[in-house]
Amino acid sequence: MSIKKNDVVVLPCSGIGKAYGTLARETAYELVERVRPGLAKLTCLPLLVINDPQAKQLVMNNPVITIDGCPKGCAHKSVESVGAQVAKAYQAIDFYKAHKELKPDGITELNDAGRRLAAVAAEELSQVVDALAAGEEG
Ligand code: SF4
Repeated sequence: MSIKKNDVVVLPCSGIGKAYGTLARETAYELVERVRPGLAKLTCLPLLVINDPQAKQLVMNNPVITIDGCPKGCAHKSVESVGAQVAKAYQAIDFYKAHKELKPDGITELNDAGRRLAAVAAEELSQVVDALAAGEEG
């Protein structure tokens, strides 16, 4: 018998003009498109800000991982502002602190080290996605 798995919502902050904001988005894309397609789902931060019913329902009904580009924590706060809970909250700079050999740079587009860091971070987050999907964390 197969076990029903939850979708896991991944919400990066908008992070315009900051390398770590770009890293947050790239990590989310890696996770959703390459590492856990079909299990991890993206939603758009501005949709939560405008209280979009579908975006709100998505974060209310599924475990949510937020990835923020700075301590202001816009993604984290946006989820809480609609009355939902964040299962796991990350700041993109912590991915760099764990992998100091990969220094992200670039605003519209990450440098090569930043792209590799996003890929590494997404691989690491895949275990969190799997645990949340199985109802084991959060
Ligand atoms: S958390 Fe920081 S980088 Fe991300 S959108 Fe907010 S202010 Fe910008």
